[in-house]
Amino acid sequence: MGSKPTGWTADPRDLLRAGPEFSLDEFDRAGKPGFRGKKKDAAALGRERGKLLSELQERLFAEGRTDGQRSVLCVVQGLDTAGKGGVTRHVMSMVDPQGVALHSFGPPTEQELKHNYLWRIRNALPRPGLIGVFDRSHYEDVLVVRVKNLVPEDVWEPRYDEINRFEKELVDSGTIVLKFALMVSHDEQGIRLMERLDRPDKRWKFNPNDLETRAQWPDYQAAYEAVFQRTSTEWAPWYVIPADHKWYSRLAIAEILTQTMIEMNLGWPEPDWDAFDMRDKLAEMMSTKALRASLADTTDTVTGAVAEDAKVQREQIEISVDDKDESQVAARAEERAALAEVRAQRAAQLAELIHTKQQKQRLVAEAKARETLG
Ligand code: ATP
Repeated sequence: MGSKPTGWTADPRDLLRAGPEFSLDEFDRAGKPGFRGKKKDAAALGRERGKLLSELQERLFAEGRTDGQRSVLCVVQGLDTAGKGGVTRHVMSMVDPQGVALHSFGPPTEQELKHNYLWRIRNALPRPGLIGVFDRSHYEDVLVVRVKNLVPEDVWEPRYDEINRFEKELVDSGTIVLKFALMVSHDEQGIRLMERLDRPDKRWKFNPNDLETRAQWPDYQAAYEAVFQRTSTEWAPWYVIPADHKWYSRLAIAEILTQTMIEMNLGWPEPDWDAFDMRDKLAEMMSTKALRASLADTTDTVTGAVAEDAKVQREQIEISVDDKDESQVAARAEERAALAEVRAQRAAQLAELIHTKQQKQRLVAEAKARETLG
């Protein structure tokens, strides 16, 4: 409810966003910036965020079903074993499968090679209302392509600017672009590759080419650094995620996605019909028994909403009582304002619910009277 959820001491977007001076040499790949808990706290927090993310995704989907144009694109990059697959599966498991579109990009096919490298990317962009997830992306065209000299430098060099323009166009058309790079340490990658060799159930994930890629580690690091320095824009930032602790990278990505979607102010679409009129009409086609059951549901919802409001009110009071430390006063005032806003929204919802309950009581009474008469 406050601006910072339990476990996070700061918004991970502020801590993990790459800037033009970004240096991979100084980056701690086993770090857990901004998170004060342990793995088990992350699991509990992850479940809580999952519920919120799921509702936000449903709102985005509903918006896309009306005349909304917005979508979200999560680009996921990282070297072998960094956990791209795990992160994409994790994010996808938190939301309704019909609301997510996953695309994995391997080596381009013959047909794809006939087009500009962005052609296959444009074809895979999320439609309005969807969360798109790219497991690898157009960035391979300045990573593997650069490291392995698949095209000359004068071909890949202009791509950084071209990618920035392409993403600007995307953002201007309503897609929020979030780019996540999972950075695993050289040692941790060695351990994970060895595990893939050791375990028969993991061998399928190993590809002898992974060793060739590992041998080019310094070149890949330089190529990644160039990507962060040149394509982390104001409109499509890179979040560089320490990936030696898989639980941290998953939690951080889920949090960044959730915070971003909170800021989208996703409401529920307003229908062009009136629920009270429709309720009157539907009631004429329902038995008294079914109407009573529906009234009981509304009564339960009202009771729950009143209890929830009391909880928020208690939290508001606790914040006031704690106000001793002066340096915390501004932060507390912000939390109080956020809670007050939540309470105001809840009050409006509660007023409508009570109105609905009264209408249903009237409808049950009318149905009973009809039954008695005839
Ligand atoms: P992963 O390694 O992501 O788990 P995988 O082993 O199943 O995937 P694919 O998805 O078929 O393999 O392909 C991944 C490979 O494709 C990577 O080695 C990547 O560098 C390469 N690749 C992706 N895009 C391009 C591109 N534009 N040009 C050349 N190679 C590319």
